[in-house]
Amino acid sequence: MKLVFNHWACQGHGRCFELAPELFTLDDEGFAVPMIEGDVPAELEDKAREVSQRCPEYAIEINGS
Ligand code: SF4
Repeated sequence: MKLVFNHWACQGHGRCFELAPELFTLDDEGFAVPMIEGDVPAELEDKAREVSQRCPEYAIEINGS
């Protein structure tokens, strides 16, 4: 499973950080910064799927599963 973050789509709601601080942090303006890009460790795959589905801007893509 790979996580692809589309920076241009992020509107800074912060939901990803609230749901999965293991995967995302926020910059000084509240926009998401992925802590993992590319291969997602197996133990974080469920979280990655959840944040992808719950990002209101569809900024987080999951590929390969
Ligand atoms: S939930 Fe989506 S739009 Fe909101 S900060 Fe995270 S990536 Fe950006």
